[in-house]
Amino acid sequence: MTKHLACPFCGAYEVERLFVASIHMDSCHCSVCGSAWDEDTGGHYRARGDGGSVLVRRAKR
Ligand SMILES: [Zn+2]
Repeated sequence: MTKHLACPFCGAYEVERLFVASIHMDSCHCSVCGSAWDEDTGGHYRARGDGGSVLVRRAKR
């Protein structure tokens, strides 16, 4: 149980999580600083270099 409960960017706990079964990751969004990132099911940080979540990138196509 080492999941990140706080935003890795600003440390706030106002983080929304959405588990995405198709990619086995949590898509996280901080409602304080607006950052978005992904974590795998083990709680490992998986943010992309471009600073967006994979969901956002897919939505743009
Ligand atoms: Zn934040």
